[in-house]
Amino acid sequence: MKPSAQPVPSRVHAFARLTEAPLDLLVVGGGIVGSGVARDAALRGLRVGLVDMQDFSAGTSSRSSRLLHGGLRYLEQGRVGLVHEASVEKKTIHRIAPHLGEPLGFMFPAYRGEGRPLWQLRIGVKLYDLLCGGRNFQPSRGFNREETRALLPDLDAENLSGAVRYFDALTNDARLVLDNLRSAERHGAALANYAKLTDARPDAAGWVATIADAAGTGTHTVRARTIVNATGPWADQLRPSAVKLRLSKGIHVVVDRSRLRVPSAVVITEGKRILFVLPWGERIIIGTTDTDYRAAPEAVVTEADDVRYVLRTVNEFFPQIALREADIVSTWAGVRPLIANPDGSPSDISRAHQIRSPQPGWWDIAGGKLTTYRLMAEQAVDQLVRHLGIAAAPCRTAEEPLLDPTEIDAHSGLIPPPISAAAVRHYVGKEWVQHLDDILLRRSGWHYYHRAEALPLEDIATWTAEAAGWSPARRAAELAAWHALKLDPWREPALAAR
Ligand SMILES: Cc1cc2nc3c(=O)[nH]c(=O)nc-3n(C[C@H](O)[C@H](O)[C@H](O)COP(=O)(O)OP(=O)(O)OC[C@H]3O[C@@H](n4cnc5c(N)ncnc54)[C@H](O)[C@@H]3O)c2cc1C
Repeated sequence: MKPSAQPVPSRVHAFARLTEAPLDLLVVGGGIVGSGVARDAALRGLRVGLVDMQDFSAGTSSRSSRLLHGGLRYLEQGRVGLVHEASVEKKTIHRIAPHLGEPLGFMFPAYRGEGRPLWQLRIGVKLYDLLCGGRNFQPSRGFNREETRALLPDLDAENLSGAVRYFDALTNDARLVLDNLRSAERHGAALANYAKLTDARPDAAGWVATIADAAGTGTHTVRARTIVNATGPWADQLRPSAVKLRLSKGIHVVVDRSRLRVPSAVVITEGKRILFVLPWGERIIIGTTDTDYRAAPEAVVTEADDVRYVLRTVNEFFPQIALREADIVSTWAGVRPLIANPDGSPSDISRAHQIRSPQPGWWDIAGGKLTTYRLMAEQAVDQLVRHLGIAAAPCRTAEEPLLDPTEIDAHSGLIPPPISAAAVRHYVGKEWVQHLDDILLRRSGWHYYHRAEALPLEDIATWTAEAAGWSPARRAAELAAWHALKLDPWREPALAAR
């Protein structure tokens, strides 16, 4: 349970704007898809509101592998159109938000008699380059066995035949959401996190939505001519949603960079599955898993078996490293909102997206991935502009920089900068912070980058209290709520023993 709050003036103002006159569009869900829709619609001149029942990006959009990628492995499944679409988008996002897209080389080793042969990988990465709609960040290339060993000295060399290298980009998923929202707000959108849509009914003018604010201002009625359901893994829970999902869980572990000598990202395989070893500043991110998930999306956690699977796979490829649980700095778990297809394993299910209108003025937008959010938003807003019958401006999100250069600073990048009071003031003043974990997990990502015991938690709580005007009691309640989150249940002996 989050501590209750005295609403800050900006929040009271946001609700006043959400309720003062009918909106053209109410977006439900402030993950990457909802944020992209809100920004696109606001840029076209629509009156836009957006609500999220948790913090912005707290759903799947702060729990991904953080890649802007076409999805090399979908080529194997013959999904050339999907790869092309995502490959073009990865370059578009890099162009509009270079601070959130760092090109990254991926070494994909090949072994004689196992997995994909080198010749097949060589063809695959050349095709992958071509599918970028122009040039990839850098051309792919092949390496023979000796070159591969020189670049990846800790890689298992038995039966190694060589490697290929191709390029995707590393992003920061939560920051991508927040920067889309900053842009949406600058273009007039009214935004509220911790605000849940509890009911939506059609009326003559569109929709009447009931929004419950968990952070202090009560329950509100919001009128909107259209509603977009962008609730990711929750998308089949809203009425009148017609979405059918198959949820799949994925986890990541973070270790110190010093534990694994890798000059670039490395692709490792386990059967048909692909895992990534991703350099991230002074750390390495390793993931991910892909397993059917049937519990509530908000309850997803890393479990001991997930951690063991990731460590076992990475240790097979880097046997001398022998990563252990004690090496792990942090983990996170997320739920993929995949469009239902009861057949096949989760890894086989398409990452294609779906935009449907089950009732006039209501759209469900589901599936897809972080990389394709901008295109999903463009297609959804095109449809609802036609429905509204208004002369809106054309879509500008493929050209318009995500932020003004003056808005980009050390607080909004890929790697968490040193923790400071100034950074906390920035997050509280400009980025809708309501609780301590909003800062530690999503605004800064500090929790994932530092061992829990190395985080100056008391200082961070004090700086946040000063910036947000919290009483001593509220500060203490926020610290207690943080500890109660128990983000690493797999470290607890009872679970680990199972
Ligand atoms: C392990 C993993 C790795 C991934 N890696 C990548 C990757 O590297 N690259 C890539 O392109 N994609 C990746 N993806 C996919 C990508 O992360 C998701 O497709 C994307 O984040 C989904 O965004 P979303 O906005 O649809 O959902 P979400 O981010 O979950 O947002 C939905 C929001 O709706 C809110 N909500 C729900 N119900 C209500 C309600 N009643 N009222 C108000 N708000 C509500 C929730 O609180 C939530 O914040 C990965 C996914 C996972 C799980």
